[in-house]
Amino acid sequence: MVHDGELSSVLREFARTLATDFPIQGILDHLVERIVDVLPVTGAGVTLITAGRAPRYVAASDEAALRFERLQSEIGQGPCLTAYESGEAVAVPDVAADLLFPRFSSAAVLAGLAAVFTFPLRHGAGRLGALDLYRDTPGPLEARDMSAAQTLADVAAAYLLNAQAREEARASAGRFRHSALHDPLTGLANRRLLTQRLDHAAHRALVSGSNTAILFVDLDRFQQVNDTHGHQIGDELLLAVAHRLASLVRPGDTLARVSGDEFVFLCEDVHRPGDIEVLARRINESFATRFVLLGTELTMTASVGVAFAGPEEDISHQLVVKADMAMNQAKRRGGAGHQISNLREVRQAHAAGSLETDLRGALDGNQLDVSYQPIVRSRDGLLTGVEALLRWHHPERGPVAAVSMVELAEQSGLIAEIGAWVLERGCHDRGQWLAAHSGAPLDLAVNVSARQLMSRGFSVTVAGVLARTGMDPNALILEMTENIFIEDSERAMSVLIDLREMGIRLALDDFGTGYSSLSYLRRLPINIVKIDQSFIADIDQGPTGGAIVAAVTDLAHVLGLAVTAEGVETQRQSDEVGAIGCEFAQGFFYGRPVAAAAIAAQLRATPGGPLYLPATHDALAAAR
Ligand code: C2E
Ligand code: MG
Ligand code: MG
Repeated sequence: MVHDGELSSVLREFARTLATDFPIQGILDHLVERIVDVLPVTGAGVTLITAGRAPRYVAASDEAALRFERLQSEIGQGPCLTAYESGEAVAVPDVAADLLFPRFSSAAVLAGLAAVFTFPLRHGAGRLGALDLYRDTPGPLEARDMSAAQTLADVAAAYLLNAQAREEARASAGRFRHSALHDPLTGLANRRLLTQRLDHAAHRALVSGSNTAILFVDLDRFQQVNDTHGHQIGDELLLAVAHRLASLVRPGDTLARVSGDEFVFLCEDVHRPGDIEVLARRINESFATRFVLLGTELTMTASVGVAFAGPEEDISHQLVVKADMAMNQAKRRGGAGHQISNLREVRQAHAAGSLETDLRGALDGNQLDVSYQPIVRSRDGLLTGVEALLRWHHPERGPVAAVSMVELAEQSGLIAEIGAWVLERGCHDRGQWLAAHSGAPLDLAVNVSARQLMSRGFSVTVAGVLARTGMDPNALILEMTENIFIEDSERAMSVLIDLREMGIRLALDDFGTGYSSLSYLRRLPINIVKIDQSFIADIDQGPTGGAIVAAVTDLAHVLGLAVTAEGVETQRQSDEVGAIGCEFAQGFFYGRPVAAAAIAAQLRATPGGPLYLPATHDALAAAR
């Protein structure tokens, strides 16, 4: 007979399968394997049934169970179908004497089956299929075992449903994302995706100091093809051209179709401008062979314009415009060739790259600063803490994006020093707030990059800062992303454990964007999961938008972790993350990152009392 302890341990194991990537097959294999351990049966199998389709046996604990599953499917008769149709458990304690399923039973006895007990996989009023328990000796199952088996079947059904919903959500999100960013005719990137890639290239070039190039390709006299041969041939030609151009794209580069007959190559990390001239020539050569389209033969040529951006130069739509202008020059010269817009300047700019030197100076020159963004309890907007965010106002360039700066600091080995500075500054500022408003024991969240966490003596540095500033370790949260585990996960793990022992809490930042799967949540000694803002933005996008946030939140809760929703920008998103059950929320809706003095002013506006965000206009006015 099953023990309560055994049953609950199987149920707990199920909860943990949630922490893997929700593979449906994994859940079922696990079910049939474990059920044989805890119940007095010799085999188990699961069959999934969809109305109007043949049943599919999908899991079996061993060869014999597989045979019995197959028998039911092949014969189209057996307890499994009856349990599915009726929604009730079916018991056949003596298969040899059975009259209910004569065709199945006579075959099953020959195959060695003595008893079978079947339980519908129920969800609400519906059913997903059935769980069969097989035995090689006849006799009934005790009532308790029958009810334990039904519980397992119900739990498995709930997880299956969850897994199916996730797989569908993932597939439809993928389809949606693809169609929003790709050209429906050729499948190439569209203008929107090109713009995103340009932003990305701009960021990378800043850090890597490399060149970027745009090649703008326009077919010569394409309109004539449409006029003479019709739009169908025109479309076929565009497809064929897309195909030829795509074969010239290097890994990491982007090819987009930006309008009718205009194609754009975005090439990043260009080491020698000469490589791009070669590419431009290849593009022209790819038109040398005639196109054969639906039985029609065509000759086509193209004009190509090239524009470069050096490491210090603007990479934006302007660069595409420059390449477009160069393309027009090529066209004016008769087409079928290429024109480079600014080759000489590019070669001169090659020796730049002073940003790194500037960053070294910034730390000593008082150019670095820290902003604080509110984090609230999502239920009611109560301010519970702030996140410290690094700021650099470059004397000539203006503000430098935090991510670029952190990447630069990691590359140049300055990250440990800069990171320690941010931590000390945050602890110090929090101390000042507390001194003036003792009723505001805000949590302080500080970001830690991978290189910084792995730097020598990191936890000792942290302990030193805590001691110097009198910071309460229980109020400190260190935020890190999943990539800390790429290089040396054992070492990372031991640093995290040290930090936890000091009483510091750990948050996994930008969850969902990194390399890991949900399984990380289970392995890491973290307290908080911060769901990345891209998922929060999706909440507004159709019925499946919130599904991922809800699934991750449920899972985090099963594992005893708290959840922070990042990037909440609207009332609707705020309501939604509250309803889903994320404990905390952060985003422009509650407050943008502001200077330490502005946080102090907000606290002053609600002396002694709690502060709720977004604050009313009165409170905000008082804060100014
Ligand atoms: P993060 O830790 O995920 O910080 C949140 C980022 O999202 C901040 O960008 C913040 O300004 C932005 N944000 C907050 N709410 C919203 C919103 O509602 N909408 C939108 N669109 N954005 C929102 P920021 O300050 O540019 O920082 C970017 C990243 O740079 C941070 O992401 C963090 O990974 C890193 N970072 C910042 N400061 C430090 C630091 O001192 N050390 C380390 N290692 N990394 C830092
Ligand atoms: Mg963060
Ligand atoms: Mg984040």
